[in-house]
Amino acid sequence: MMELQETSVYCPYCGEPISVLLNPEDVGLDYIEDCQVCCRPIEFSIFEAGNGALEALVRSDTE
Ligand SMILES: [Zn+2]
Repeated sequence: MMELQETSVYCPYCGEPISVLLNPEDVGLDYIEDCQVCCRPIEFSIFEAGNGALEALVRSDTE
């Protein structure tokens, strides 16, 4: 069963915590999603941390 997992990350631009839904089908992919607070484009990398847990790395698009 593929389930979305909710997690919190900190925006690399404004530092605000934002909640995101991680899709197991996105593991290994990078995608851009705008910050809900400052609307700047955050680059997400999704990976599996083991035991089925998903984690997101975030970085600014400009780095
Ligand atoms: Zn932000």
